[in-house]
Amino acid sequence: MKNSDVLRVLLAGSSAGDRQWIIELLKSGSSWRCEFIESDSGESALQQVQAPGDPGERILLAAPLADMDAMRLLDRLLDMQGITPCPVVVITPGNGLELGPVLLRAGAQDYIGEEWLSPYVLARAVDNARVRWAMERDLSARDDALQRSEAFARGVQRLTQTIIDGAGALVFAKDLEGRYFLTNRAWRERVGLSEQQATGITDEAVYGAQVAQDLRRNDEQVLSSGRLIVAEETTYQQGRPVHYLSSKFPLVDEAGRTYAVCGVSTDVTSLKQAQAALQARERELQTLADNTPDILTRFDRELRHVFVSAAIERMTGRAPQAFIGRTPRELGLPADLSDCWENAVRAAFHAGQAQTVEFSYQSPGGLRHFSGRFVPEFGPEGAIEHVLGVLHDDTEQKRAEQDINRLLEEERHYTRLLARMAQASRKMHASLSADEIAQVLTQQAREILGARRAVTRLTLEGTGARTLQAVALADDAHPADLPPPGTLLTVPLTGQGGQQIGIVQLAGGPYGDFTAEDRAVLMQLAAIASTGLENARLVASLREADHRKDEFLATLAHELRNPLAPIRNGLEILRRSGQLTGPAARARDMMERQLAHMVRLVDDLLDVSRISRGKVDLRLARITLQAVLDNALESSRPAIEGSGHSLVLHLATEPVWIEGDLTRLAQVVSNLLNNAAKYTPAGGRIELSAQVEGTHAVIRVTDNGTGICADMLPRVFDLFAQVDRTLERSQGGLGIGLSLVKKLVELHGGDIRAESAGLSQGSRFTVRLPLAGPEGQPPPCLESGPGAPSATTCRVLVCDDNVDGAESLSLMLGLLGHEVRTVHDGAQALDAVGPWRPDVVLLDIGLPGLSGYDVAQRLRADPAMAGVLLVAVTGWGTEDDQRRSARAGFDHHLTKPVEAAALEAVLARRKPDRPEAD
Ligand code: ADP
Repeated sequence: MKNSDVLRVLLAGSSAGDRQWIIELLKSGSSWRCEFIESDSGESALQQVQAPGDPGERILLAAPLADMDAMRLLDRLLDMQGITPCPVVVITPGNGLELGPVLLRAGAQDYIGEEWLSPYVLARAVDNARVRWAMERDLSARDDALQRSEAFARGVQRLTQTIIDGAGALVFAKDLEGRYFLTNRAWRERVGLSEQQATGITDEAVYGAQVAQDLRRNDEQVLSSGRLIVAEETTYQQGRPVHYLSSKFPLVDEAGRTYAVCGVSTDVTSLKQAQAALQARERELQTLADNTPDILTRFDRELRHVFVSAAIERMTGRAPQAFIGRTPRELGLPADLSDCWENAVRAAFHAGQAQTVEFSYQSPGGLRHFSGRFVPEFGPEGAIEHVLGVLHDDTEQKRAEQDINRLLEEERHYTRLLARMAQASRKMHASLSADEIAQVLTQQAREILGARRAVTRLTLEGTGARTLQAVALADDAHPADLPPPGTLLTVPLTGQGGQQIGIVQLAGGPYGDFTAEDRAVLMQLAAIASTGLENARLVASLREADHRKDEFLATLAHELRNPLAPIRNGLEILRRSGQLTGPAARARDMMERQLAHMVRLVDDLLDVSRISRGKVDLRLARITLQAVLDNALESSRPAIEGSGHSLVLHLATEPVWIEGDLTRLAQVVSNLLNNAAKYTPAGGRIELSAQVEGTHAVIRVTDNGTGICADMLPRVFDLFAQVDRTLERSQGGLGIGLSLVKKLVELHGGDIRAESAGLSQGSRFTVRLPLAGPEGQPPPCLESGPGAPSATTCRVLVCDDNVDGAESLSLMLGLLGHEVRTVHDGAQALDAVGPWRPDVVLLDIGLPGLSGYDVAQRLRADPAMAGVLLVAVTGWGTEDDQRRSARAGFDHHLTKPVEAAALEAVLARRKPDRPEAD
């Protein structure tokens, strides 16, 4: 201690005397400059000790204290490190030998028993205490540092362990003998060992000899090279390989000696599996790419190929490798193809959307057509990295499409052809004349086959060429009968018996020669035409036969009339002579009835044949239905009453107007009434009703007679139809009545229907006639009945080549009181009129030599004959005949056999200007 330094002596003791004594001792026993600070209690002493300042320049001398003993004071003075804040010397009572060592252990640096107190002892104790305190303090400081560094080292170790334990990888260190002295948790968990078990274990024990050998080889490489190596290592866990990527490096001590191998192993098993899977996938893709018929090609941003599949070789003849790293243009592909691809790739990069392309390429095997898509491929960042082209060879598909189109076109062609053939066929079948058929055949054949010209020639029954020539000229004016230029196609028209009935010939096909198909089509048309021609011929012959039948019927009726005329005249004569009585008179009556029936039959027959030949002219007038029914009843009543039938009438009270021919309509109703009377057993009931229904006048004739069976109903209106020819009928019939009725009704624009519930159930016939329009007055009835016969006698010349007819007529006229002369031909008639000057000439038309017409014309040419009444009396009774006789100059036309009443009526209307006196 330096002399200039002041030693601050903290003097604690309850006794002030003791404290003074001690001060004196110290002063005398040392040469130090001391500053004494006294404390009379333990507490104040403690405060003094804690006061600031260098503790080395202080010392506590602790004499006995009243408030705390020395042990307590020391206890409170000791700090964490177990050292007092300043040196402490305890002055104990007595010699202190007992307490002294205890005080030293309790932290005091020295002690002095009061018995031993002397200046020297005190000074030495103070000195000792100071030195010992300083030493203790140094020791304590060093110990402190040591403890801190140990704690740090433990911290570092914990941290390291935590870090390596936290690592997912396996971390380990092995000494030079290969014994593990450091492992992390991952390592231990992987091999299933505790830290304790792991420490000191070898690879052999952990993995077995084989794996240990491999691992050891890597460790040795580390040891020999002294460097880090990275190696793949494989161990096995429950028989399955586990792959690691291991970084191994040497651990070196301060002296630079390697003492261990440290390793960090990462499990790459799943990575390796993924890698293997990826490789497998890549191989798979490559196989796919190489084997797909499509061309796959990938482009980078510079439009260079980075991948091309094997299919490219088929297209270009070049191996895929030749494409890699080069653009289409650099490869020298044709400019249009390069443009097509490069533009599409650029557009895909630019727009980020797939682009479609179509192109053709002249492959080594010929021209091929492709279609394809260029698709952008996005990287993980979303940027387009590549564009993938998928190109498909459409050549076969295109060809197939073309084939289908061609087939469709062919089908359409055939459909059109068939339709036209069908149309031609319809037209030809609709044509009923050979001329028309030939016309249609020529026209259709030319149009369908597109020929420039077509000719059809018909021959008749193999008798040589017929006049018919149907020729269509297309684009030249070549005369049809000259041989046509260019290729000819000729097909015969053949009849059913195999005979040739003509030919059809085409010239100048649309594309030069005619094909086999053209021939087939023409043959088909010719076959259709041949059938049509046969049909036309059949129809013509049927018409001919029908016509002949009508002619025959007309002639028959006419010829029947001739013999009827004299019979009627004869009967009339008998009646008027009044000479017959009794059975003779009854026989005459019977003969009259039968004659009337026969006349009606002949009339009907004639009417039917006239209507069939369209030779009936209706005398249409506005008439009442009532007039029709009156007329009909008048003629039918005798038949109805004759059979004892009751007749019930239901007639409209108001006049019902219709447009019609009174006589003909009366004929219709009378026919129906006659039939009802005829086909109803005696004493039956016949109803006649007539009323308006809607726009029609409806007449119904109903009887309760034999009825008509269902299968006959639809045919009763056919000509010559009779339900039962064996039926015994009082008046017989030809089966023409209903046919005539139907025709007449239809001529009037009406219709007729027959109904019957069956045999013996009666029948009903319903006639419907359109009502006449409302306006206009009813025209006077034409057939208002013959005028009253005049009693005036006249001079009548009868001219008929039928001698009986002429004679009977003149007899009858004589009975009527007329003066009569008879001649038998035209010349005689002309001769007779001059000198005799008759009032009336009854002239037959069909006379030998001069016809009735000739005679009439000559008489009319003679002014002297102007007043003569010329009456045609003939079997020909059609409207035509009547018109013709009128043109020839006749005043009247009577049809044979002439009824006496009709004759009288005509005579009554003779020209009035004849001088009565002649
Ligand atoms: P026709 O009386 O001369 O035989 P129609 O043409 O008048 O000829 O009649 C044809 C057939 O219809 C008759 O033969 C008859 O069988 C049948 N018929 C016509 N009217 C009647 C009727 N009212 N009742 C039963 N049958 C009828």
